[in-house]
Amino acid sequence: MKIAIYPGSFDPITNGHLDILKRGAKIFDKVVIAIADNMRKESYFSVEKRLELIEGCTTDLDNVEIDRFKGLLVDYAKKVKASVIIRGLRQVSDFEYEFQMALMNRQLNDNIDTIFLMPHEKYTYLSSSVVREITKLNGDISRFVPENVLKELRNKYGSK
Ligand code: ADP
Repeated sequence: MKIAIYPGSFDPITNGHLDILKRGAKIFDKVVIAIADNMRKESYFSVEKRLELIEGCTTDLDNVEIDRFKGLLVDYAKKVKASVIIRGLRQVSDFEYEFQMALMNRQLNDNIDTIFLMPHEKYTYLSSSVVREITKLNGDISRFVPENVLKELRNKYGSK
């Protein structure tokens, strides 16, 4: 059984994340989407809320599990028996950081490989931070996030 993890902040999950998750779920037997529970990084939604939001928009994906983790990614991967880390590449600007992370993770555990998936072109400019920014400025983000995330953002900030 080939298991992959798709780690990230998902603060909140967007249609770009979902695009990558669905592509990964077609390639691997199981994909664990894992929220990095990083105490130092200030988040918009709590980990619990982010988990709930991911749960609410992935019910149709049978081979996807949702989890959270603390500490080293490679240790978490080993714990859930994943041999692959999935990351999304939007533009060349993502590359430098992702390349460094992938090679460092390989140094830490050579049995775990990182694979990069490209989203549909329409999501290449999309990020959680842009969605949060537009929400704060009361812009329409309905095309960029799943229905349940849209509702939550509207509740929190009263966006359109
Ligand atoms: P992080 O805080 O680690 O950057 P994110 O939650 O922002 O985590 O993203 C998790 C992963 O999803 C990263 O690999 C990121 O490049 C990817 N990703 C984020 N938004 C998109 C998008 N619109 N299209 C494709 N991949 C994306």
